Amino acid sequence: MSELVDIGANLTHESFAGDLDAVIARARDAGVTRMVVTGSTVEHSSAAAALAAAHPGVLHATVGVHPHHACDFAAADLPRLKTLAGLPGVVAVGECGLDHFRNYSSPAEQERAFIAQLELAVELQRPVFLHQREAHDRFLGILKDFRDHLGPAVAHCFTAGQRELWAYLDLDLHIGITGWICDERRGSHLETLVRDIPADRLMLETDAPYLLPRDLRPRPKSRRNEPAYLPHVLAKVAACRQTTAEALAASTTATAERFFRLQPAVSASAVGTQDFEPRSTCGV
Ligand SMILES: [Zn+2]
Repeated sequence: MSELVDIGANLTHESFAGDLDAVIARARDAGVTRMVVTGSTVEHSSAAAALAAAHPGVLHATVGVHPHHACDFAAADLPRLKTLAGLPGVVAVGECGLDHFRNYSSPAEQERAFIAQLELAVELQRPVFLHQREAHDRFLGILKDFRDHLGPAVAHCFTAGQRELWAYLDLDLHIGITGWICDERRGSHLETLVRDIPADRLMLETDAPYLLPRDLRPRPKSRRNEPAYLPHVLAKVAACRQTTAEALAASTTATAERFFRLQPAVSASAVGTQDFEPRSTCGV
């Protein structure tokens, strides 16, 4: 089986602070040899970059500010993100975008932070990791203004419908699929929709610790999702696309390698020799 890349894992989340090395080891045992750690605030982005530095070739990082945290986004954060983006192992700008489902930050604050990060991605010519929920039309309008100058862009954790998917594909976006597709209550529409995504634009992610696949058995007592469960998502998406897990593993990994310009995976024996100090990133 081809190795897998989890393109969205929130490994700086406090729930991983106590056992991150075990989480990474389980992922590797499950064939998930590389993970991209999502940056959701400047502090978490800094922690994600530190994780990538501590686990070269295994962990990579994005640096950005999630729309939930856009209200905290200050002008001084931009140079900090720019500095972080230059660190080894940092592969993309984001997670950034719009989220009008919860509106933890006002729509105006979200747009300001989103646009600033798109400008940064253009300036640095780095891939961008996008989040959108319940804000499709505005999100698309902003993205269209930048599209000609932006490099690769992925709509992570895609959960919307055909109209949104086709609009994203028209804008040459990549699409990230999570275990949402395993949820028969709210994700079944994705079962047919994932067939519309060209193989060279489809990538897989857990969004751990969130979105534990609903049909995972046995269910972990903690209900915490982790990268080791990515093969479960792979199997579901492969069945939906009427292909083999092997073929989908090969194509999604090749796509992630191209998208993030990842280096080849480090052999398992080389990992574990690295010292790693878990650091608390909580309090955001
Ligand atoms: Zn997200």
